[in-house]
Amino acid sequence: MLKTMENCLFCKIAKKEIPSTLVYEDASILAFKDINPQAPVHTIIIPREHIERVSEITEKNASLLGEMALVGNRLAQKEGVSERGYRFVINCNREGGQTVFHLHLHLLGGRSFRWPPG
Ligand code: 5GP
Ligand code: ZN
Repeated sequence: MLKTMENCLFCKIAKKEIPSTLVYEDASILAFKDINPQAPVHTIIIPREHIERVSEITEKNASLLGEMALVGNRLAQKEGVSERGYRFVINCNREGGQTVFHLHLHLLGGRSFRWPPG
């Protein structure tokens, strides 16, 4: 059984208890449109398993990050931003800017991003 959390927004989205614009799903990964997009392409990629933050990635579950990146790459291709460029972001904890405590990868594309980020 996958570990899920009663009061977690993204677990609820994964269980379809809260609606979202799903763009991809398989046995372990789900991707949906961000509700407050920061770029023309802004997709959230999550593991179904409830892992709160990227600092909780261990030897046991590290392959999930690779699966998330693979899905992100395929979606970037599908959205037509692969060649132009895109950004993957994972925020961790307060200073990292994390607001939803279920591991997620942001796929951002369709405009130019600055560096360093704000
Ligand atoms: P974080 O700041 O934790 O890295 O990112 C959380 C992201 O989740 C934000 O970009 C926010 O807009 C998005 N988000 C928050 N609530 C919802 C929701 O109910 N549905 C969707 N699709 N995205 C959400
Ligand atoms: Zn969760």
